[in-house]
Amino acid sequence: MSQMTMQKLKKGKTIWLMGLSGAGKSTIAQCLIEKLRATQQICFGLDGDQLRAGLNRNLGFSEQDRSENLRRAAELCKLLNHDGITVVAAFITPLEKDRALLKSIIGAEDFFEIHIATPLEVCEQRDVKGLYQKARLGLIENFTGITASYEVPQSPFLTINTVGLDVDQCAIQILNKIFI
Ligand code: ADP
Repeated sequence: MSQMTMQKLKKGKTIWLMGLSGAGKSTIAQCLIEKLRATQQICFGLDGDQLRAGLNRNLGFSEQDRSENLRRAAELCKLLNHDGITVVAAFITPLEKDRALLKSIIGAEDFFEIHIATPLEVCEQRDVKGLYQKARLGLIENFTGITASYEVPQSPFLTINTVGLDVDQCAIQILNKIFI
């Protein structure tokens, strides 16, 4: 096997799930990780909420801080991918300029931009963490979809609307499109 082919086989991918809060990113990410591990792939879950709770706890939700949060996450993905580890990342990632930055850091051939395109009304109805209610009451600033913008991704690798699908079906669609 050539050096080049071996290098390609050894490299991991970054499967980056983006979408509104409550869209289903973390739930689908968890399901993807279970399915990948069942095929002996080494993979790592990187979740925006978890990253903000520790490593990136000095960052808020201004446009600048969100961008920095994503940049650091992308640098981590790059390191892990180079070491053969596939990363499943779940971040709102609201702006096109930041998506372009992620792609440039991780590398276009390893970066899979998946838009979890659950409509705002559905996310708000689910309100898993009670955040939409707080945002509507004005208790949270810069809340994506309410008081901060979410730009619809213009060139995602795949778009999934979770309405009418179960988590498993969403994960299978993603894996089929990437690996088959
Ligand atoms: P996010 O990480 O995008 O903020 P979560 O994964 O925390 O969203 O929450 C999504 C909620 O939507 C969960 O309660 C999940 O059970 C529910 N849900 C319903 N249908 C789906 C689906 N097809 N895919 C993912 N989540 C779904």
